[in-house]
Amino acid sequence: MRRISQRISGIAESATLAVDAKAKALRAAGRPVIGFGAGEPDFPTPDHIVEAAAEACRDPRNHKYTPAGGQPALREAIAHASAQPIDAGQVIVTNGGKQAVYQAFATLLDPGDEVLIPAPYWTTYPEAVRLAGGVPVDVVTDESTGYRVGVEQLEAARTARTRVLVMCSPSNPTGAVYSREQLAEIGGWAAENDLMVVTDEIYQHLVYGDAEFHSMPVVVPELADRTLVLSGVSKTFAMTGWRVGWMYGPRDLIGAALNLQSHLTSNVCNIAQAAALAAVTGDLSAVARMREAFDRRRRTIVEMLNAIPGVVCPEPQGAFYVYPSVKGLLRGRTSAELATFILDEAEVAVVPGEAFGTPGYLRFSYALSDADLVEGITRIQKLVPTMG
Ligand code: PLP
Repeated sequence: MRRISQRISGIAESATLAVDAKAKALRAAGRPVIGFGAGEPDFPTPDHIVEAAAEACRDPRNHKYTPAGGQPALREAIAHASAQPIDAGQVIVTNGGKQAVYQAFATLLDPGDEVLIPAPYWTTYPEAVRLAGGVPVDVVTDESTGYRVGVEQLEAARTARTRVLVMCSPSNPTGAVYSREQLAEIGGWAAENDLMVVTDEIYQHLVYGDAEFHSMPVVVPELADRTLVLSGVSKTFAMTGWRVGWMYGPRDLIGAALNLQSHLTSNVCNIAQAAALAAVTGDLSAVARMREAFDRRRRTIVEMLNAIPGVVCPEPQGAFYVYPSVKGLLRGRTSAELATFILDEAEVAVVPGEAFGTPGYLRFSYALSDADLVEGITRIQKLVPTMG
């Protein structure tokens, strides 16, 4: 007798979480593993956010369920902080951005609907599309375009079944940031072709140098009625464990997604919502300090990786990842095998490009201390000349 549904048995474990779990287990066993695997800031959550949560614990009202869509004050604050003229009724607070991703596809897709996903992509998108009955269609880019997709490529991948375009800028795993002009072109094309858009803006506060963050439905206002915007506090405020994200968009889609959420998870933990409210309404000086540190690490890691023969590491403009090509290092291995080799031999955890739809690359998260970053890449620099 079949014990696991076909739908669920087809889902692969999150490769990024798997690498992180392996690194943490080795560390717990006393091995000096350095982890570039997790997309998780190493800073503590800022004090004013933690204090708001502590206070919420003592508020007796917080032992109760709150509206499934989130605390009204938080929905209000998210609407206010968004670059679009939306109100609180167009926002749903979710258990991390990850739930918003699943919920977006579950709301939009019918069986067989195709979703264009620029690759390298965040590893969860195709799985969430499949879970919702859709068909992920990779639109593969590489370092020659800074991992940014163009309209010609998207048009070549479009079929009569294409329903949704996914955008993620700044990008996980590449750190690529699309310019206003690029978003205008892609967004105009999506609107012309009657596509829905899911845009993941979870790294919006983490851009460096001259790069600027732009939100697609703001750049292309005719998209606002056909776009779900996803985000959350995890990356910006060092709150990955608090599990607060959100989605906003047109009322009909948000209403449908809310019905789903009301049966799926009810409301997000009230304490975490109070913390998120303090984050979204508070000042961004702690975020600015974290961004400065990420920027410094970004420059260090790019330089150190490019010093390794066989590695080509473009400079990312956002998020906290670099995505070098390691094709020159493979020597008959796959990048997944190379990542395992690096973990076994140098005790350094990285995620192979296979997890992001593009073998031949490795993803390094530079959300770890400066000292660990230098030590980890130095270990790889020393390992490479010994590789057969
Ligand atoms: N979107 C992107 C692009 C991400 O990289 C992540 C986390 O890695 C998420 C969404 C979800 O983050 P969380 O569920 O912690 O809010």
